[in-house]
Amino acid sequence: MSSAKYIFVTGGVTSSLGKGIISASLAKLLQARGFSVTIQKFDPYLNIDPGTLNPYEHGECYVTDDGAETDLDLGHYERFLNTPTSQSNNVTTGRIYNTVITRERQGAFLGKTVQVVPHITDEIKRNIKILGESGKYDIVITEIGGCVGDIESLPFLEAVRQFRWEMGPNDTLVIHLTLVPFLNAAKELKTKPTQHSVKLLSETGIHPDILVCRTEYPLPADIRKKVALFCNVNVNSVIEAMDADTIYDVPLLMKKEKLDERVLSKLKLSNKQEPDLESWKAFLGRLKNPTSYINIALVGKYVELPDAYKSINEAFIHAGAENESKVKIHWISSEKISTDTVANLLGSVDGILVAPGFGERGLEGKIVAVQYARENKIPFFGICLGMQCAVIEFARNVLKLKEANSYEMNKETPHPVIDMMEEQKKVTMKGGTMRLGAYPCELQKGTKAYSIYGKSKIMERHRHRYEFNNKYIKQYEKEGMIASGVNPDTNLVEMIEIKDHPFFIGSQFHPELKSTVQNPHPIFVKFIKAAIDYSIGKQK
Ligand code: GLN
Repeated sequence: MSSAKYIFVTGGVTSSLGKGIISASLAKLLQARGFSVTIQKFDPYLNIDPGTLNPYEHGECYVTDDGAETDLDLGHYERFLNTPTSQSNNVTTGRIYNTVITRERQGAFLGKTVQVVPHITDEIKRNIKILGESGKYDIVITEIGGCVGDIESLPFLEAVRQFRWEMGPNDTLVIHLTLVPFLNAAKELKTKPTQHSVKLLSETGIHPDILVCRTEYPLPADIRKKVALFCNVNVNSVIEAMDADTIYDVPLLMKKEKLDERVLSKLKLSNKQEPDLESWKAFLGRLKNPTSYINIALVGKYVELPDAYKSINEAFIHAGAENESKVKIHWISSEKISTDTVANLLGSVDGILVAPGFGERGLEGKIVAVQYARENKIPFFGICLGMQCAVIEFARNVLKLKEANSYEMNKETPHPVIDMMEEQKKVTMKGGTMRLGAYPCELQKGTKAYSIYGKSKIMERHRHRYEFNNKYIKQYEKEGMIASGVNPDTNLVEMIEIKDHPFFIGSQFHPELKSTVQNPHPIFVKFIKAAIDYSIGKQK
């Protein structure tokens, strides 16, 4: 039997209240007190994972070391805790049903009717326990996606109810995140939505222990008392969660509200140490007191929805703080970029990042952006499709292979400088079949990539089907674009760079997925450094 304690985080009133950030902030505080903590997210949709979802539907798809395609909240968990997550940290309704139905076909329930209760709820409970029983964690925080009252969340809530009933009285805890809106016309904070939300949750048999109330204004004592009385919790279990300047302030705001102390006392956990948040505070100090300001263009096709590039955005925040620089990201739609518009759109920035992506839309604009960065010696970083664009651009404009392209975009191209990977050719199913998760990469000594990492063996996370076509490698190297990082097992090119350029780097992997507050990713850190140098150079 596991000795881990379990915290469930539910949400009410409306979506987008920031359950992920509250969960990550609480986890950070508990970790700072010496507990080992992990966070898991249950998503109530029927896709097996978000890998097949368009970013417009669900924001970025985050990828773990073990190759799970997951919800972007897992990125927050890793960035706050600096510990990796895995497949077990994100479970969808689709995956739960898939497992149960597969077992039904195997005959695991022969003779029985397979039902939501108990079979689906049992499978949910099994998934809750996987992390707790691994022996690695003192505390498992499980975030239930969606809003209380949604039909699709019901099996998860029923599983939580059963789970609490089965466990000891001090082994589980429910935190409900709700909204206390301010009505401008009445000039009043309103508690009724919270009361209704708690009532809805109570109808599922779950009574919250702690209420975290999102609010734009401080919650006065009488409002806290009212919420406590009508929602049947202690007054000191009504936690105010004010809007913050940055998500990285939230752990400190939660500490001020004593959320972690309430949690420890309710779970009857004895404190290990006072929270050690020195390095976190130092990061915030650097973040909030920049000594320089730089402008980076993020060229992509989902720019209206910054959540589509969440990890890149956060990696820039970490790297900016590391350089004591405020990074302003200019989100530029690659569809707007052409040889006529490029100077206007990119002429004043200090660095250009070409984003990952799929499909043909906006590709040509990305290639023009690469050419602009290469020819004008502007710091450039291309990630995944961004690196592939750099390879195509170099082929077309330097190697003079005018029709060079990626096999993804043009199956007829005479020069597929980006080709389909051998192992991908036999793949017919779409979900979970890309090259996913962490792979080793060997960096060549003497390259910029090597100097960025300061070592030769690295592991980075992937999510793609296409790759650099090694048939062309000699031509590239002859003209100055080199493969600075290669997979030692398969010989796949993982990083490229241009020798005769202050900073021109492409990575087939996604470094943004491994950038955390504690360990800002070195490529982003050095890219920002190059942008600062470029901006100083411009002023001279
Ligand atoms: N579409 C490209 C591929 O599948 C790049 C993917 C990406 O940028 N994540 O290889």
